Amino acid sequence: MLPLPELTAENTAFWTGGERGELMIAFCEDCAHAVHPPQLLCPRCHSQRVSPRAVAGTGTVYTFTVNHQPWIPGMDVPFILAVVDVDGAPGVRVTTRLTGADPQAVRIGQRVRIGFEQSGDVWIPVWHANEGDAA
Ligand SMILES: [Zn+2]
Repeated sequence: MLPLPELTAENTAFWTGGERGELMIAFCEDCAHAVHPPQLLCPRCHSQRVSPRAVAGTGTVYTFTVNHQPWIPGMDVPFILAVVDVDGAPGVRVTTRLTGADPQAVRIGQRVRIGFEQSGDVWIPVWHANEGDAA
């Protein structure tokens, strides 16, 4: 439905980790900075020793919006667009579609878990509201 990312040396781990169910975040091996979006050079200390590793795949809703506008034909509305703080990757916030949550009930601070939707060569991260946490 949406254009797919082009795989590069920097981002292949991120976009293909979903094949194994893993959220891959790049970390600097020298200063431990989480580098996201992934790059080959640490923006903090300029080290080139940046490599991806799997994080837990859980997170917390930092903020969100409920979209009611079908921007392209065939888009299902309403849907929740959330900004999620990623566990185990300090400072990393991802903008994502959030599924499995009632748009009337989603809240800041809600716990979420990652899932993936395969599309061609890439696994698109899609975050889900945790079961039993829809209050
Ligand atoms: Zn660094």
